[in-house]
Amino acid sequence: MVNKVALVTGSNQGIGFAIVEELLKRGVETVYITARHEQRGRDAVEKLKAKGLNPYFHQLDVTDSKSVKKCADHIKLLHGGLDILVNNAAITVENFEETSYEDAVRVLNTNYFGILTIQEHFFPILKKDARVINISSDCGHISNLRNKDWIARLTNKHVKRADVDEFVHWFLNSVKTNTLKPEDFYQTELLAYRISKITVSALSVAQQNEIDRNISINSIHPGFVQTSMTLGAGIFTLEESSKAPTYLALDVDQSVKGQYFWFDKEIKDWRNPDLPLHCDYEWLKKYWQ
Ligand code: NAP
Repeated sequence: MVNKVALVTGSNQGIGFAIVEELLKRGVETVYITARHEQRGRDAVEKLKAKGLNPYFHQLDVTDSKSVKKCADHIKLLHGGLDILVNNAAITVENFEETSYEDAVRVLNTNYFGILTIQEHFFPILKKDARVINISSDCGHISNLRNKDWIARLTNKHVKRADVDEFVHWFLNSVKTNTLKPEDFYQTELLAYRISKITVSALSVAQQNEIDRNISINSIHPGFVQTSMTLGAGIFTLEESSKAPTYLALDVDQSVKGQYFWFDKEIKDWRNPDLPLHCDYEWLKKYWQ
């Protein structure tokens, strides 16, 4: 048994659910499925129980600070704190090819501001040598961005959360005022999702820079995985997608910090905008035809 407490956000289905299953199979004693919808969470618990695994459950909506606080208080009270936190919950854009302000706000509220709310309530209860794994994407590699000023600022080794906040506000304001310049981005399809995942990658470095304890914080692209987010398309199965995040949670050395991982467990240079690691919409589209 691994005497640790783990929690995965948005884990009633998809990659999050697979990570919970893998952590339990690897012997982690206390693993929380969390879900914004109580019943979906409880159904997910039953699925794992049918396989002989025993997850815990708590309701958790990352966009609702009361829900996040309640869950963190519960973990603190029952277990004294948390060893493994996986920020997995996310949504994608409604319209893949057009960016509306409402949709951009919706996506950033979950994918970026949700992680900040989790940080506010869960970082204080992280135990010694805890690990935070932020699920990013190939859409979150800096090569998705072409704006030189923002590339320089976000890839600065000393990036702070305030830089990432300003980037989000710059993007939202450009959408709102219709001043977005297509040349600032590799592609404008899935744009709000790309921006949200760039923030996840940059924020991971900023969180690592700003935390004053021996906690490791890394981000990861889990691969193109068959889930509801990809409308069932993908190269990897759920089980395959769970291996690299679990490796970050249990196996990688604690000294590995502030890195951007790939689904093959390799570290990729997040700061190099010339690496061809961006998400290619034309390639993705072939899977939906
Ligand atoms: P998914 O099957 O749609 O699962 C997303 C999970 O997040 C669901 O459980 C969903 O709950 C939950 N969620 C959404 N909004 C939430 C909120 N406000 N509070 C709490 N939970 C919330 O998607 P997935 O493909 O497994 O995605 C998991 C992670 O991998 C995401 O961060 C995604 O960006 C990333 N990713 C996926 C791929 C891929 O190819 N699938 C590629 C790169 C990165 P409901 O069931 O209630 O909707």
